[in-house]
Amino acid sequence: METDLARREKLVKKRRAGGNPLREYRRLLREIRAVYDPFTAKHCPTCETPCCIRPSRVTPLDVIIAVGCGHSFPHLGAIDPVDIAAEHAEQRLDPSAVKLTVVDELSHDLPCEFIERGRCTFPDDLRPHGCAAYICNPMHRHMPDADMRKLKRLVRLLGDAHDALLRAVGDGQGSEIETAPA
Ligand code: SF4
Ligand code: SF4
Repeated sequence: METDLARREKLVKKRRAGGNPLREYRRLLREIRAVYDPFTAKHCPTCETPCCIRPSRVTPLDVIIAVGCGHSFPHLGAIDPVDIAAEHAEQRLDPSAVKLTVVDELSHDLPCEFIERGRCTFPDDLRPHGCAAYICNPMHRHMPDADMRKLKRLVRLLGDAHDALLRAVGDGQGSEIETAPA
């Protein structure tokens, strides 16, 4: 009978054999982007419930990964992007706030600070996990079935890749999270 420890060691070995978790994470984000792009070009400009509002799904880890990969947010000036992400995460976790699912239905009319000239300022392959994994209602209504199936599969894989990234961070496997271009 395989013990929990043996199973965990096997998982760690498998992950190490799988290489750099950030590389896989970025690859999946690029694939997801390719599905999103034609949809967002057509539907976002006229969307009545825009999703890039505060509090966003950005977390401090999303910012740290992007900055660690050499990205910067010049439009924010002296404001630390980690502070913004922490504030958004705090608001979304606040037990006195409305339920997270309901937050999506409420427009606070304040755009996410990471948007600039109508575009997210994170690189396409380093978009925050929560933003990239969010399948909005207009997508459910208007995206072709084949694209939606592909998107859901990619989002599931992205979740696994994000978990692997978190485990690598937690295990101190810094050498696995090379920040060189994917
Ligand atoms: S909710 Fe969907 S359609 Fe609306 S702006 Fe966001 S991604 Fe675009
Ligand atoms: S981080 Fe980018 S994708 Fe996410 S809400 Fe802000 S502008 Fe939109």
